[in-house]
Amino acid sequence: MNYFNWKKRLSQLVIVMLMITLFPLTGLAEETDIEPPLTGFEERNGEGWTTHPEELEFLEEVATLSDRVSYDQIGTSVEGRPIHLVRVGFPEPPSDEDIANGNNMLVIGTQHGNEAAPREMALELLRDLAFTEDEELVELLHDTTILFIPTANPDGREADTRSNADGIDINREHLSLSTLEVQAIASVLDEFNPDITVDAHERPRDSGNPDIEMLWPRNLNIDEELRSLNQEMVEDYLFPSVEEYGFSTGLYGTPGGAGGGDERIMRNMLGLRNGLGLLTETAGLQEPNYRVDAQLRAVEGVLSFYHDRFQEITSIVSGAPERQAFIGSEQNQPFYLDGADNWEPTNVIETKPTGYLLTNNQADAMATHMNLFSLEKEDVYSAGKYISMSQPKMAVIPFLLDKRATYNEVEGIALYNSQNVGTAVNMNSLVDHFANENAFINERDVRTLKMQLTAIDRFEKNEDSTKVNKHLDGLIDLLDYQVDNELISEDAAGDLLGYTELLKEKWMD
Ligand SMILES: [Zn+2]
Repeated sequence: MNYFNWKKRLSQLVIVMLMITLFPLTGLAEETDIEPPLTGFEERNGEGWTTHPEELEFLEEVATLSDRVSYDQIGTSVEGRPIHLVRVGFPEPPSDEDIANGNNMLVIGTQHGNEAAPREMALELLRDLAFTEDEELVELLHDTTILFIPTANPDGREADTRSNADGIDINREHLSLSTLEVQAIASVLDEFNPDITVDAHERPRDSGNPDIEMLWPRNLNIDEELRSLNQEMVEDYLFPSVEEYGFSTGLYGTPGGAGGGDERIMRNMLGLRNGLGLLTETAGLQEPNYRVDAQLRAVEGVLSFYHDRFQEITSIVSGAPERQAFIGSEQNQPFYLDGADNWEPTNVIETKPTGYLLTNNQADAMATHMNLFSLEKEDVYSAGKYISMSQPKMAVIPFLLDKRATYNEVEGIALYNSQNVGTAVNMNSLVDHFANENAFINERDVRTLKMQLTAIDRFEKNEDSTKVNKHLDGLIDLLDYQVDNELISEDAAGDLLGYTELLKEKWMD
């Protein structure tokens, strides 16, 4: 073969191969004819944020023009504005069931209404993903679905306020789930369990230095493999990749408490929900285009981290629920009610409860939380419910149910033995627990309570409800006497009296 001909043919082949590599997509010709829509912000070249009606029109246009995009309303704000979930997948977004069973990532814009750049980032990025021919991004969209809640707080955006229309800072409500907006976000987190979630914010009164701050979930109850991969993502991957574009970076919240382990904020909740999380914070006094660009670079960095480390990320994320359920069952592991990975905890439960006993009223009050955190409860007990710590989302349970937690929703009774919950035998082991914690002044008082409970156990086994009730009343008298004479700690007395009331309800005729 003539060398030059051969070389020419080879180069032609290389070009063809290159074309196949660069443009592996079918329907490329049609796609390139389409002019991707612009946001209102882009059309005005950064002079004025995208308005609410423009956002609605933009989402509809993108979804109409690109097969890769679908969107739905997942909630409604206090003032009745829609909160949307946008899905971007290739060649089209899978069904919600397949998204939930497969892999996905979530970008949340503008929980704080006066922080507008994150929302513009979300809108531009979802459009860019809808039309991109970038090989890495298309490959990523093949493997995973990218979800967006572009405007998490539409009323706040409209009014340009941090809070929602009820004056509530929704980014303090991810544990309480007390607002419509937060419930919409929680329903997405609970349904899809994203591998990575970006929670994008701004520092409204900050003029720069650095241009963009970032942080990972720092709460100490987060799965350790997850937290350390999360830290690596921010420090070793995102900082350099964003800086490459000329933006200065830094950790959010140093010094001060803003960067701590607070279980009520989205950043930490993402880790407590067993996913990777990223907080981004641009400087709100800088030029709008600059802020949106910085946000875009950060999330593009996340996308390429996700692409490059896909196997490792998905393996660590998918293993976290099982690891957490196991740790939840290990009583020798502490639970941290405060502190952070950069902050010595001061409120630690050294012996982790096996679970929490709730009255039926308390369980009813927790229905939304049980649902939106996918917590499992056991009906071991007619007078109440038992929430075991041995489950994937164990890391939110003490925050919600333990009376020692700062922002608990109800005061459940912490149990340290999961056998025979709702019986005198189980309550007897709770007395032992409090005795070990030095909750009693006199050993004699411990023995008296245990003898009474042993008697009740015998009558329970004979199903002699009259005698059970009579001896439960006797138990209350004993506890009241100990309280009156300061022979028992307040905590122990509260839980043991509460437990006795539940047993009385159970044995009520
Ligand atoms: Zn914010």
